[in-house]
Amino acid sequence: MTAGFFDAPRAADFALRNVRIPAALAPGVAAPATADGHFNVDIAVSAGRIADIAPAGTVDATRGPDLRQSLVWPTFADLHTHLDKGHIWPRAANPDGTFYGALTAVMADRQQNWNAADIEARFDFALRCAYAHGVSAVRTHLDSFSPQAEISWPVFARLRDKWAGRIALQASSILAMDPFATDEGPRLADLVARHGGQLGCVTRLSGEDHVGVPTNFDDYMTRVFELAEARGLDLDLHVDESGDPEARTMIRIARMATKRRFKGALLMGHCCSLAVQPDDAIEETLAACAEARVDVVSLPMCNMYLQGRESARTPRWRGVTLLHEMKARGMRVAVAGDNVRDPFYAYGDHDMLETFVQAVRIVQLDHPMGDWAKAATMTPADIMKLPATGRIARGLPADLVVMRARSYSELLSRRQHDRVVLRDGKAIDTTLPDYRELDATVGMR
Ligand SMILES: [Zn+2]
Repeated sequence: MTAGFFDAPRAADFALRNVRIPAALAPGVAAPATADGHFNVDIAVSAGRIADIAPAGTVDATRGPDLRQSLVWPTFADLHTHLDKGHIWPRAANPDGTFYGALTAVMADRQQNWNAADIEARFDFALRCAYAHGVSAVRTHLDSFSPQAEISWPVFARLRDKWAGRIALQASSILAMDPFATDEGPRLADLVARHGGQLGCVTRLSGEDHVGVPTNFDDYMTRVFELAEARGLDLDLHVDESGDPEARTMIRIARMATKRRFKGALLMGHCCSLAVQPDDAIEETLAACAEARVDVVSLPMCNMYLQGRESARTPRWRGVTLLHEMKARGMRVAVAGDNVRDPFYAYGDHDMLETFVQAVRIVQLDHPMGDWAKAATMTPADIMKLPATGRIARGLPADLVVMRARSYSELLSRRQHDRVVLRDGKAIDTTLPDYRELDATVGMR
């Protein structure tokens, strides 16, 4: 078992004394906060739950370790991943690092290799990484072109049951828009409904890049709304994932939702091109999204990797959407991990702390940090309708991540590889699975 930086008590009743929790993640705690937004507290744990959050120094010293102002976070929620694609890099690299290179490499690998055993081995490996890093909720997109959907969704269902109680697992479909105009649309929507998933697509046509607005976009999108409405499904869409300012489907979807009085939740991922549009177009889109109560998830690592990539040319922008402006309008915004070790992103480890750290740097969420910690914890959990996840409050399960760091400066500067993860009040094994386990699946070329 990997040793964390301290030995967590094994008793049913104990306390983590003299710790710091982000004020933004501790609804219900009223106390003076430190300059960078933390409460100094003692956390009492009883029978796996948070029994009390008391001012630091008030709980009896015999009840647990003095953690000398170490940060305690709730476990993380990763709202947007692709666990069916994960870890195929050794057999399916991206030839040039571009979006189109990713699209074609994944398509070829999917057609050749994605049987149930292959997906399950990589998917389970990914969940073990996430769990060891302190993630307790994950939504994955599943490539749902026929006949792949019939193979992948049952794997998801099996793993959701296997991981219940450790990782709350959700899934959304992802495929181009044109199949929705065929018999495949209702068939897929039924499959998604049967599995309790979200209906999702990308705002482009099969085999095309996210350039401009696809021909007949409104007809396709209307069909997607109709299929969701008929089954009471929420929508989780990949939107405008490019640096083309003419890629403006976001505003169309938001206006459509308002006009239809869409009752489901509407989550949009990526929305990269918004950042390269003129100010008046941005204002118009943000107003429409706020009115339609659109939630947005940004994928900073993947976006920075793919966007603005041209051979032998230095990228000129960061690829991310306008999170500050959205949040200022009252929209719920989250950051998430997206792809890991596949042609859409060559790196990553399902570690939402890494995602948060990278997001802070790429999107400049700091100075002041304010309540941005919510974007990797409470907000994605809220969007996933998991009200007990991603926050620290009396009565909730003691699902906590304890870091040696005492401040944002220390937290964001080191990898925190020696973090201690408590689930239901017990320290878990944070040993990461060995890549060698995947050799039989993806080979080592
Ligand atoms: Zn994605």
